Amino acid sequence: MNIFLIDNSVMIRLGSFAIVFVIMALWEKVAPRRALRARKIIRWSNNLSITFLNSLAVKFVFPVTAVGVALMAQKEGYGLLNIMGTSPIPGGLIAIMALDLTIYTQHRLFHVVPVFWRLHRMHHSDLDIDVTTGARFHPVEILLSMVIKMAAIVLIGAPAWSVLAFEVLLNATSMFNHSNVLLNRGIDRVLRLILVTPDMHRVHHSVIIQETNSNYGFNLPWWDRLFGSYRDQPIKGHDAMTIGLANYRDPKYLTLHWMLAVPFLRTER
Ligand SMILES: [Zn+2]
Ligand SMILES: [Zn+2]
Repeated sequence: MNIFLIDNSVMIRLGSFAIVFVIMALWEKVAPRRALRARKIIRWSNNLSITFLNSLAVKFVFPVTAVGVALMAQKEGYGLLNIMGTSPIPGGLIAIMALDLTIYTQHRLFHVVPVFWRLHRMHHSDLDIDVTTGARFHPVEILLSMVIKMAAIVLIGAPAWSVLAFEVLLNATSMFNHSNVLLNRGIDRVLRLILVTPDMHRVHHSVIIQETNSNYGFNLPWWDRLFGSYRDQPIKGHDAMTIGLANYRDPKYLTLHWMLAVPFLRTER
């Protein structure tokens, strides 16, 4: 099992990314939620370029993958679940929830701490929100997230299978909840009891600050409800709402070099 995970984790992650990306892109084409404002060719080419750049950055900076870290922690007996000797299946499910809570906490922190916000505001500077926004993060934020994730894996003692499952899940749900797809309101209502839906996450990309600072979840919607950051719908509605940040309305922020420069610009938010 462990050898299989080491040998195949990259291929599993890449393959699932490609499959979910194609499904969401087709779904957006067939049933779009709202009319996109910015030029799609510019957004897609640059958002996908930074996604590619991010995967290269992670590969070059980290000598081991997150799954590798989990296997090392298991071998050394580090982490809560390893110390308690929890069996892999229930332990893995607990680990997935704990990792999701970690990501939620990290996301909130990235909105509050000014130096982290500088990095994270790049994700919010997209003038539209669709499947490609789901992977549009600054490389430094991606590297920092990886360090936080690896530390959490060691502290939790997360089983290797659950780390791979979490990475695949987070990747898939991020593309799903950023996508510009139309979901029947009734289905959205039921689905958002267990999963962050596109309508729920779109609120987080609103230009209105109170809405930007809500709905931080990526996988499970429960943390937002539990910690008081849940917002049901955007005030102006999904069609009329403005996506992005007030200080980044210029379409130049949709291009790769400006996206990389966003953390270093002297604007207040
Ligand atoms: Zn955010
Ligand atoms: Zn987002």
